[in-house]
Amino acid sequence: MIESPLLDKLTGYIGGRWSDSSEGNTFDVYNPATGEVIAKVPSMSEADVVAAVEAGKSALRLTSPYTLETRRTWLEGIRDALREHKEEVGRILCMEHGKPLKEAQGEVDYAAGFFDYCSKHIQALDAHTLTEKPKDCTWTVHYRPIGVAGLITPWNFPIGMIAKKLSAALAAGCPSVIKPASETPLTMVALFRLMDKYVDMPDGMVNLVMGKASVIGKVLCESPDVPMLSFTGSTEVGRKLVVDTAEQVKKLALELGGNAPFIVFDDADLDSAADNLIANKFRGGGQTCVCANRIFVHEKVADAFGEKLAARVNKMNVGNGLTEDVDLGPLINQAGFDKVKRHLEDALANGASLVAGKEPEDLGDGHLFFPPTVITGVTRDMCCYREETFGPLVPMALFRREEEVIDAGNDTEFGLASYVFTNDAERAQRVAAGLRFGHCGWNTGTGPTPEAPFGGMKASGIGREGGLEGLFEFVEAQAVPRGF
Ligand code: NAP
Repeated sequence: MIESPLLDKLTGYIGGRWSDSSEGNTFDVYNPATGEVIAKVPSMSEADVVAAVEAGKSALRLTSPYTLETRRTWLEGIRDALREHKEEVGRILCMEHGKPLKEAQGEVDYAAGFFDYCSKHIQALDAHTLTEKPKDCTWTVHYRPIGVAGLITPWNFPIGMIAKKLSAALAAGCPSVIKPASETPLTMVALFRLMDKYVDMPDGMVNLVMGKASVIGKVLCESPDVPMLSFTGSTEVGRKLVVDTAEQVKKLALELGGNAPFIVFDDADLDSAADNLIANKFRGGGQTCVCANRIFVHEKVADAFGEKLAARVNKMNVGNGLTEDVDLGPLINQAGFDKVKRHLEDALANGASLVAGKEPEDLGDGHLFFPPTVITGVTRDMCCYREETFGPLVPMALFRREEEVIDAGNDTEFGLASYVFTNDAERAQRVAAGLRFGHCGWNTGTGPTPEAPFGGMKASGIGREGGLEGLFEFVEAQAVPRGF
């Protein structure tokens, strides 16, 4: 079992109090590197979730909202607490997710950056008066908190994803009911421990519920007291939330799945492209929404690029994230491992060939460690081209012409992240404009940051997190005209 000063309470948190499941149910949390159960946490009931919504409602202040200064203090407090406890929060994250310790601790810093950004730009949410006077009135535009928000997060960034949502919700003055993924609830409990101890927020401003998605999701979708859901996770569940909230016309912010193209032209700096691809692809064990999923390489440089990738991949260490010098941890669970294996088998059976990594039959059983793998000769009928692999498999497909690769890049229902490597600035501008993706890195595999808006087009979602656009997600603009 995991021991940590930040996990002395292993329960939910409702209305400013640590709260167990009213029905006494629990579920196990595993360390994917060892297969061991490291904690038991409450599986909360429908009544618990209703109580969390009620607590949020009592903390909501519409007629005299919390001042910008008060909200800024909360954001700064969470930022400082995360930075101060980054080692321990990162260790907990590493143990329940599996990613290397340094990467896990880096994620805590990344999360703190969102609270920092919102604290520094919260002034943008202040009311303003329109300089033009339509209809002989002066108009004031207020940004009102939308109300109690349901925040639902995935397991792949246990602290990063909640930071994006919670920072903007608190900046707006919205109380929230938070549901972490069942694979990784402990990092969230640690965050609540920090908020409880170091940040003076009203009871009910932040509430934590854990347990069955069907139970928690039902209350959040059906309660008229929750006017907004902010969800990060799969497109499949995002679609269900659209349907389940349609009756009430709830506001939805959806950060969904990706199928990122990573395009390497023949004039690109191949070493830099290879370094960027490795950093992008293997972060979180390849289990990120922004990681390159289809690598399009110009046919003239495909062999050279494949060799550079193989040389880098063959030096990577796979193992328990707590061990020094590990580059790649385990996959999150057996279903995740089996999916990557199925994609590899399917590609090899349909004509792709292995550049680095192991044949599927040599992968072994009884563990979740998948070696970094590079294949070439990938075509659009293969699973790894059409679906999000979510693992350390690099599938290379060849192309000849610019228009052809823009069409190929867009040949997916997803539109989250994309990358183009070329030294021709005009071509980069053309390709970025043609790619229907919310993020397009030019000569970089870098992903979202607190300062820039990030989100998906098409089936990758609705709305933006980060940047000023993200800051405005949890407010409703209200125009108040005043006659002379
Ligand atoms: P998931 O299965 O969709 O689950 C995400 C969260 O939703 C979990 O907390 C899950 O709870 C909960 N959930 C499941 N069914 C629900 C329902 N009916 N009502 C309410 N909540 C429900 O996704 P995942 O496997 O955790 O995460 C991987 C996916 O997230 C990938 O597709 C990835 O691309 C995407 N992602 C997108 C972004 C982005 O910024 N666009 C960022 C990160 C990840 P349980 O854990 O209890 O099932």
